Formats: sequence, C-alpha cells, structure tokens
Amino acid sequence: MAEKIPHWLTKQAFLAPNRVAIERVDGSTMTFLELKEQSQLLAKKLASLGVGKGSHVGILSNNNVTMIAMIHALSYLGAVAVLLNARLTASELNYQIKDANVIAVIVEDNLFEQGKELEVEKVFNFKQVHLTGAKEIELLSELDLDDPFTIIYTSGTTGFPKGVIHTFGNHWWSAIGSALNLGISDKDKWLAVLPYFHVGGLSIFIKSVIYGMPVYHLNRFSEDVFLDAIYNRGVTIASVVTVMVQRIMEQLGEKVFPEHFRCMLLGGGPAPVPLLEQAALKKIPVFQSFGMTETSSQIVTLSPRDALRKIGSAGKALFPAQIKIEGTTLNEIGEIFVKGPMVTKGYYNNDLANRDSFHNGWLSTGDLGYIDDEGFLYVVDRRKDLIISGGENIYPSEIESVLTGFPGVKEVGVTGKPDERWGQSPIAFIVPQNDYVRKEDILDYAKDKLAKYKLPKEIHFVNSLPRNASNKLVRNKLMDLIN
Ligand code: ATP
Ligand code: MG
Repeated sequence: MAEKIPHWLTKQAFLAPNRVAIERVDGSTMTFLELKEQSQLLAKKLASLGVGKGSHVGILSNNNVTMIAMIHALSYLGAVAVLLNARLTASELNYQIKDANVIAVIVEDNLFEQGKELEVEKVFNFKQVHLTGAKEIELLSELDLDDPFTIIYTSGTTGFPKGVIHTFGNHWWSAIGSALNLGISDKDKWLAVLPYFHVGGLSIFIKSVIYGMPVYHLNRFSEDVFLDAIYNRGVTIASVVTVMVQRIMEQLGEKVFPEHFRCMLLGGGPAPVPLLEQAALKKIPVFQSFGMTETSSQIVTLSPRDALRKIGSAGKALFPAQIKIEGTTLNEIGEIFVKGPMVTKGYYNNDLANRDSFHNGWLSTGDLGYIDDEGFLYVVDRRKDLIISGGENIYPSEIESVLTGFPGVKEVGVTGKPDERWGQSPIAFIVPQNDYVRKEDILDYAKDKLAKYKLPKEIHFVNSLPRNASNKLVRNKLMDLIN
C-alpha cells in the first residue's frame, strides 16, 4: 500500500506558523503560514485555469519566491511541476514541453516574451494567475509518497536531456538523508542561490518545509551579497557549485569565515583539489558531494568529521542510500551505481534510457569512480569522457584539476584528440587570466604533477569554453574550437 503523509507545507504551517520560511535580501520575510496560504490560494486559481490532478504544468522562471509558491500550489492539486531551465533556447524548451506532455506553462512576468515562443496550448504569466478567481475545490491534505511531484530534465551534458520523474517520496528521502548527515539546528538558515529549476536549488525549499528552516533567497549570485548573507544575515549553510567557491575565495582576501557558518555544500561537478585545500586554509567548511538530477540532489556527501581528512572525496552514501562500483575491488576505478529511496524510479517517456540505466534496483550513473578502503567515494570522471592513450586510461578531470592550480589559468577543459600512434592523446583548452600566461610555464608546472602520457600534447588558449545551459563544461564540443 502506498505511504501517505500529511501535506508537508500544511503540517509545517501548523507546527511553526510564525517561523520564517523565506527571507529576501531586502530583509522582508514570509512565514510558513503565509507560504501555505499563498500556495493554497494559487492552487485554487490554477484550478480555475484548468490545472488538476495529474496535469503536467511547466514552470519557466528564474529564482523567485512566487515560483516556489507555484510549485507548492501544484502539489496541492496533485499536478506535476515540470521545471524548465530559463537559459534554454525556445527550441530546447519546446522539446522538453512536448516530451513531458506539458499542458500549460506558467511563466515569470519578466520572461513573458520568451513564453510567447512556447509551443503549448496555454501560457500564463504569474500576474495572470494572480488575477484569476479562485475555484472552490478541495486541496490535497495528504501526499502519497509514490505520486510524481516534479519532472526535471538532466543538463544534457552527454547527450539529449532526459526527463527525470521525482516522486514526493524521492524529495522526502532526499531531505531526510541530508538531515541525518548534516544534522538540523534551530539556528540554521540555508542560502539558496543555485537555480531553483535544478534539483539542487529546489531541494533547499523542500528541506525548508520539512525541517521548518528558513531559506535565504538570492535571485542571482554575486560575491558581495553572498558574503553579506554569511557575515551579517546569519546564514549557516549554503549550496554552491565550484565556480562560486572560486569567486568567493578571490573576494575574501585574508579574511576567514565566521564560526556560525557550518557548511558550504558543494556539488554538481568536479571540484579541483587545490581549490579545496585553499578553502580549508581559509576555514571555509566545504563539504564535497556527489549527486545528479536522478538522485534528487546529493546522494553521497562528505560529513563534517571527515571533511579535512578526506579532501577530494565525495564522502559516503547518505544513510538511506547505497553506492557500489560494479565488478571492481577497493581503490579500483569503475562505474558508480547508486540505490536508495531518493533515486528516481525512471525517466519520463524514455524506455531506452530506462532500460539502459536500471539494473536490479540500481541506477548506473555513467560516472567513474572508486571507493577507498575506508568506504569513501572518489568521483573520477564521466565514462563518456574517458581518454584512452596507448592503452592507458586518462581522466580529463585529473588534468583539468592540476592545470587549474597554475596561477593565471582561469578555466580548463581537456579532451582526447585522435592520434595515429596512441589512438588518442589529451589536449587542453585554457581560458587564461591575463596576457602574460605562457604555455611552456603551464607545461613545466604540470610536469611534476602528471605522468608523461597525461601531459597535454597541445594547449590552446581560448576566450571561453563550451558550456550548456547549466553552465557545465561540454567536453565533446571542445574540438569544435579548433576545427
Ligand atoms: P546529462 O545526464 O543530460 O548528460 P548531466 O549528467 O550533466 O547531464 P546533471 O544531473 O545536472 O546532468 O548532473 C549530474 C552529473 O554531474 C553527475 O552524473 C556527474 O557527472 C556530475 N557530478 C556531480 N557531482 C560530482 C562530483 N562531486 N564530482 C564530479 N562530477 C560530479
Ligand atoms: Mg547525467
């Protein structure tokens, strides 16, 4: 029988009505009771517009509070929120809208022009929804943990994006798994600045509702507002990606982080070890994590007690989750498999991906890694990006990590170039920080840190690297820069 729990927002609004749910940069706040009331009202308005149980409703918005209320509103109707990446082109959006059988898209007011290009029967902006009358219907008082709540597309770094279905149970267990690892404190305030249309950003708001914890909402990243949030607004935890850590470190200068800030949760992609070491010196409690859209955010996280001892590791699987590297022994590299109640049960409308990815309850991640003798996971690279040179495996991210450590190197992307003698050989694309950086000096620096066969055979200085709408490096497009 399906497990039902009380609707989480209704429950939190009952437990802690006056507690702050969301705080904005201008100091204004919204309590759990206000968030519930706004979400329920929006649900009734959406019902007037034809949204009901099982409807797939697209949301096209940058980070804002109404977007979060709209998502909760859909949960009160048992509708599914299809979160669309606002940085996608119209044709990319239309692909996802069609693929996910979206019947209507709700568009942030600022994006209404973009909304006009969408091929879907109904497009409403936030204002239109607000102006619609409420339909007096009964809203869900319980959530069935097996019911779908969101569909979020993967970033499309290795191929076409896939629609990941998350049930309420997936989000629930993700929040519980994180709490069992990081603990919950009454003083916690979690900073949200990652895009809310990605699962890493959205999950902060689900945790907020389940823990009764305030979120400090930022519509966009800047070093100044981020640091202000930490030094002056009582933020204790922040979810970030690597580039944010880099920018914060540059801005910090000699300053160290305040004591009350307890966790910088780093995810989404590889983290260069030199960066993690510098962060440790500045007393920034960076916790590396591994996760994917399919795992409803982090599934493996380095815990506070091991953070310094295990720099470079993504940690251990969260309490309700498991990981394994199929067919290998300890410390041997292979594909990472994951299992747990936060892992999606499948991709929407994609039998092929479902057949390829699920094996006896385990999801194959497409990522390579190894587990050390204490059980810590080290993520090495994506399987598809592996370079094989003269029979040796070369992992581009290892080379990227080393080259990033050279002062004057801003960004690096490494890929394999066809080579008559070796099959493939690694070449590097570098965005330099200034005009004085010399290729010889970079290679000289890398020589002591990388085996000879891993040294890039060519270095190309470029203005920028190919990135997708999630700002992830798309390595299979690097060669286009020189062809
Ligand atoms: P697609 O699946 O469409 O190719 P994607 O895999 O980039 O896109 P996401 O779900 O946004 O889509 O990203 C998950 C991926 O991010 C992981 O599979 C992994 O490759 C990478 N990643 C996440 N955490 C880490 C980490 N700690 N170290 C290295 N890579 C990571
Ligand atoms: Mg993926």
